[in-house]
Amino acid sequence: MYRTRTIHGFHAMICDGKPKESCGLFGVYGINDAAPLIYQGLFSLQHRGQEGAGVVVSDGSKIRSHKGFGLVGDVFAEKSFDDLPGHIGIGHVRYSTTGSSRIQNVQPLVAECADGIWAIAHNGNLVNAGDLRRMYQESGAIFQTSSDSEVLIHLLADPMYRNRPRRVERALSEMKGAFSFLLMTKDSIMAARDPHGFRPLSIGRLKDGYIITSETCALPLIGAEFVRDITPGELVTIDKNGVHSSTFAEPGTPLAQCIFEHIYFAHPDSLLFGKNVHMVRSRYGKRLAEEYPVDADIVIAVPDSGNSAALGYSRHSEIPLDLGFIRNHYVGRTFIMPEDHQRKKSVDIKLAVLPEVVKGKRVIAIDDSIVRGNTASKRISYLREAGAREVHFRISCPPIKYPCFYGIDFPTKKELVASSKSIEDIRRMLGADSLGYISLEGLLSPFENKDDFCTACFTGRYPVEVADDQCKKMLEHY
Ligand code: SF4
Repeated sequence: MYRTRTIHGFHAMICDGKPKESCGLFGVYGINDAAPLIYQGLFSLQHRGQEGAGVVVSDGSKIRSHKGFGLVGDVFAEKSFDDLPGHIGIGHVRYSTTGSSRIQNVQPLVAECADGIWAIAHNGNLVNAGDLRRMYQESGAIFQTSSDSEVLIHLLADPMYRNRPRRVERALSEMKGAFSFLLMTKDSIMAARDPHGFRPLSIGRLKDGYIITSETCALPLIGAEFVRDITPGELVTIDKNGVHSSTFAEPGTPLAQCIFEHIYFAHPDSLLFGKNVHMVRSRYGKRLAEEYPVDADIVIAVPDSGNSAALGYSRHSEIPLDLGFIRNHYVGRTFIMPEDHQRKKSVDIKLAVLPEVVKGKRVIAIDDSIVRGNTASKRISYLREAGAREVHFRISCPPIKYPCFYGIDFPTKKELVASSKSIEDIRRMLGADSLGYISLEGLLSPFENKDDFCTACFTGRYPVEVADDQCKKMLEHY
């Protein structure tokens, strides 16, 4: 049943410290040398997680795996793909979380159940994982990780599900929250999206085989063709008999696709929830120009996720676009560094200002979001130090006031600058001459069905109730 819930005054870490990661998934079925293909696919999804990566492959009889901390290239630098033979495989890039930076949590997770080995990889965050975990622990189960994803292995291994038809669907239907899953046995892969469709997951075709990917941007780079998105609440199984589809969603479950994927997370060349990300972001820029026009000399982007919106703003306002910031591409995305001290340090070396471009100019700077405010205030001060006469900051999402329970890492209300400050207070804190956030209406304007999206971090209307006892206690407490 669909329920919304406004959670006010939430002020604490959620569940076991922070919500679990939003990550990248890549799977292959029916293509020889699956491992190097998964490696390439994970490279294309690197923007979805930089803390760790892993690959599990099967040659039809034996399952092998390799995983580690760091970027995909680092994890596989010393690894020969000859050690990972097989035509079936799944891979994962991990988005960082505090308190869970343990190698055991790097996915895919692999476990031996009574009926063989299963591997799983997860993107999203389960809001009832704590309850499920306690239930299994009380009956004697031992967990190897602190990841919410592991509960799926316990559900699959549970004789109550194991010996019954539609076992995987039944297990998936026990889970609440946001999940796109890849599962693998020695001779099949399965892909599933939660009934609300929070996180993306798509199917592609390459030769006689199949690809599953979190984002379609990974497909052309390996010569694969996009086939379709996995439908919310659908389980797709691929094995020697072909592709089978089944559903585990309750009829009438409303969609709640994460709009933040379009704002920030996804790659511009991905087709996400039916729309190209770059085109959506440039419409956000146009909309910002309509909602917050200002006299200025140049428009600049805060790269990279502000690029498309800056183009849209410039085109609509007819104020020239220029390169005010140059990004160092060898520094990870600030937002997804695991610890706050890493975030602060990385901000300092990530962007360089071009004084030749901004000096003496009235500058409109377009960014995708303001979360904590520390990065935005630094960027504005860099522009001023470089001689910008005025700095007008435009943000292609509404003020983020509420934590996300579904896998995006802005976990505490107190860390969100817009949760306690007015827009005018934020403008003053940042040192901008003006500040404009896109309206919620503008955010949803590129889409025909505006109710198909989760906007909880802006509105506090949570599409899936936080069911976990521990979360509830914390909500009551704060
Ligand atoms: S709360 Fe925000 S970030 Fe989280 S799923 Fe909803 S739209 Fe996405």
